[in-house]
Amino acid sequence: GQLVVGLTGGIGSGKTTVANEFQRLGAGLVDADVIARQVVAKGAPALAQIGAHFGTQVIDAAGELDRAALRALVFDNEAERQWLNQLLHPIIRQQMIAESQNQQEPYTLLVVPLLVENRLQELCQRIVVVDVPVSTQVQRTVARDNVSDQSAQAIVNRQASRWQRLRAADHVISNNRPFELVAKDVLQLHRHFLEFATQSYS
Ligand code: ATP
Repeated sequence: GQLVVGLTGGIGSGKTTVANEFQRLGAGLVDADVIARQVVAKGAPALAQIGAHFGTQVIDAAGELDRAALRALVFDNEAERQWLNQLLHPIIRQQMIAESQNQQEPYTLLVVPLLVENRLQELCQRIVVVDVPVSTQVQRTVARDNVSDQSAQAIVNRQASRWQRLRAADHVISNNRPFELVAKDVLQLHRHFLEFATQSYS
């Protein structure tokens, strides 16, 4: 099978920025957020199941998922949230495995924001954590998304802690530096994974 390298990090840590650099160098890229949207896209079997369970109020006129309506229904309802997760998590997981194995590049970078939270470590042979201090996470999220300090901090608080993520890491990319320096680390790791892929996975 394909060498699969998981890439994770908290909100605003720089996952997308770092993943794009790996992709530019030639890594295959699979994005868990993209898959999570695809599995509930118009016409997807899981969307029909969601519609049957929650009612037509969660499907808009165009036949697409009304995310705001669904969010409102599960927001304060642990049982409904669990029902939804039990439907979607296995489907997303299977799709991540299938797409990771299907890449033509020498290895696959699987970008999963909630890798540690959802215990998806076993989908990858190696884990890269993009790491910055919490203060930087909050600062960059506020600047990028135009949200308040408090709401950025609240999202940070709901995610795994910096230390929980670092404990899962085989490699850490410190992203609290100018990106030119970060890119050098990415290049070095990319070369390492290329070598690892040819030694163990071909
Ligand atoms: P999320 O999980 O919220 O989608 P992310 O981990 O994918 O975030 P990015 O969107 O890549 O993070 O980066 C967050 C913000 O920080 C972006 O505006 C990005 O341009 C900026 N950024 C990333 N790396 C650096 C860096 N080394 N120096 C300065 N700014 C950076």
